Amino acid sequence: MPVVVHEPAAVVEACDRARSAGERVGLVPTMGALHEGHLALIDEARRRGAGYVVVTIFVNPLQFGPTEDFDRYPRTLDADVARCAERGVSLVYAPDVRTMHPAGFQTHVVVEGLTARLEGAHRPGHFRGVTTVVTKLFQVAQPCLAVFGRKDYQQWKTLERMARDLDMRVTLIGHPTVREPDGLALSSRNRYLGPAERARALAIVRGLRAAADAFAAGERDTRVLEALVRTPVTEAFDRVDYVAVTDPETLEPSGERTGNRALVAVAAHIGTTRLIDNCVLGEDTPPTVP
Ligand code: AMP
Repeated sequence: MPVVVHEPAAVVEACDRARSAGERVGLVPTMGALHEGHLALIDEARRRGAGYVVVTIFVNPLQFGPTEDFDRYPRTLDADVARCAERGVSLVYAPDVRTMHPAGFQTHVVVEGLTARLEGAHRPGHFRGVTTVVTKLFQVAQPCLAVFGRKDYQQWKTLERMARDLDMRVTLIGHPTVREPDGLALSSRNRYLGPAERARALAIVRGLRAAADAFAAGERDTRVLEALVRTPVTEAFDRVDYVAVTDPETLEPSGERTGNRALVAVAAHIGTTRLIDNCVLGEDTPPTVP
């Protein structure tokens, strides 16, 4: 079983001890309710040479807006620890909100341009919450590598930027999105979906697949590619936050025509559940549609 700790000092001590014993520390930050997507990040950390893998579980209030699902977000610590044990995780750090943000907390880390669009435009303050907490996790664990999922593509790019801009001594790894057999990206929020809603959610997968197929056949017209995703998603979802085709590095909108790599990113709501997904056309293996 992994050691489970709730205080930053315990993480510092455990990671220092692991490093003294010659281990490389790898960090996998999560909000818990662990699924196969998270577990793939853990495996990736080990594969990249982290002998001492630290998983953090923290539902971070700073990254939720006032009308979002902070209160009902699933909290399943015992099951999460059991899953971590199966994957050989060494340490689970599960701080509470007061430990992470003690009274009087007033310091934040902000990445500018990259966070202006997409998720940043629809979730004001979200990335500031993410970058601040991930910085704190890096500070205590001082990992040599940290693994994030490309399911949250903009988050990954933002954290990469932050680490580079602030000379953080950590290598960031972006792991491809892990999907269900029918293509739906794994997400802790999928458990909010009833069976009919889940079936509707597959419109995202069909859209991404259609865009990827068109792209592979030579389509570079941004509006055409965007419409291939927007049309099925608009039909199936109750509300669409965005469907965007952008440069995969700057996240700036593609002009009339894309380059030979383009990010297509989606966020949309079914009832009270908000889902996001993406595919880098010209790079990612697109989701399989059964
Ligand atoms: P979360 O617990 O949702 O904040 O996610 C924690 C980490 O797991 C983030 O780096 C996510 O991008 C990553 N993640 C979540 N879902 C997936 C997935 N389906 N495939 C790959 N990584 C994922």
